[in-house]
Amino acid sequence: MNLNRLQRQENSVGFDRSRRNFCLKMAGGLAGAMLAPTFVCRSFAGKPELQYIREARYYRKLDGKKIQCLLCPKSCVVSPGERGFCGVRENRDGVYQTLVYGRLCSINLDPIEKKPLFHFLPGTTAVSVATAGCNFRCKFCQNWNISQVKPEDISFDYLSPEALVGLTKSRQSPSIAFTYNEPTVFTEYILDTAALAKQRGVHSVMISNGFIQKQPLLNLCKVLSAIKIDFKAYSEKFYSDVVSGSMKPVLDTMVRIKEQGIWLEIVNLVIPTQNDDPNSLRELSRWVVNNLGTDTPVHFTRFHPQYRMNNLPPTPTRTLENAYEIAREAGIRYVYIGNVPQNQKENTYCHSCGNLLIERAGFSIDSNDIIDGKCGSCQTKIPGIWR
Ligand code: SF4
Repeated sequence: MNLNRLQRQENSVGFDRSRRNFCLKMAGGLAGAMLAPTFVCRSFAGKPELQYIREARYYRKLDGKKIQCLLCPKSCVVSPGERGFCGVRENRDGVYQTLVYGRLCSINLDPIEKKPLFHFLPGTTAVSVATAGCNFRCKFCQNWNISQVKPEDISFDYLSPEALVGLTKSRQSPSIAFTYNEPTVFTEYILDTAALAKQRGVHSVMISNGFIQKQPLLNLCKVLSAIKIDFKAYSEKFYSDVVSGSMKPVLDTMVRIKEQGIWLEIVNLVIPTQNDDPNSLRELSRWVVNNLGTDTPVHFTRFHPQYRMNNLPPTPTRTLENAYEIAREAGIRYVYIGNVPQNQKENTYCHSCGNLLIERAGFSIDSNDIIDGKCGSCQTKIPGIWR
């Protein structure tokens, strides 16, 4: 048995966003490890806006200096001086600009299990970054204080792609995660950073709502190793009423990710009375089996009251157990329950012989019996990226 005991929480990294104290602080024996000031790109010294304001990659010009954004399915038409729905892209005299290229408001060293990605380099870390902005308005958002604000309303620091890749290598982390807010809104930075990371042997993963147009997604798939999609509910009404989006483009995204051979996992936050209807969960499970295959992991996670849905109770464990059973009956081989401490259904079991493959406790790995991508007991190949 290949034991891989980790206590990743001890290695959490905090990012002090005040410019004077720009540093990485590592707990657990590495306290005070500094990110040297020279690590920050200073090529635009004296013109700080030029660091993080760049021309957007996906838009077209219209009459009267208007533009149409072609990044996500909202397809915003934006007049000069105005911004798109996500609040981080601005029409400046007929040229569409992203305001958040490398404008990072959060950077942490997270266990990959926190994303959650359970079939991707288990027991490793990812340097995890975010900007302001989102193209959804989820009433239950966990990160509303960065996703639902304008970039100028929160503190940040600029990290060039070179700096972020260098930081990741210096921390001996195999991956960068674009996460917390919706990464689609800072696509240009991901494309540049992930391309560089790939050249230097570092993986890039994206934690996304999947609400993105086809061409930018295909370009991202050339440089990403894995994508986790936060699927909201198998219901157009839910997408319209609760997150201000639509479901069909997200389904299309998941099919395209699979077609491109990128590792995909799905998370469904189950919210009492909102998206916990067994029929809807059954439809989602059948759709996954028919369109993505039985090897696509699905995580059902527990809702906790917050933001604009703090009137609802936490999801009962029984509801999550039901969702688990429904997905297993539909044929999905790897189903997980999340945000429920000490639940056995956060472990990975071999779909062929039932052997306990990965035992998890929170974000830690207690044991790992996947050897060269195969079950340590029956040698069945286990879907995922393991090395
Ligand atoms: S990325 Fe932003 S500006 Fe572009 S279409 Fe989507 S919401 Fe609108």
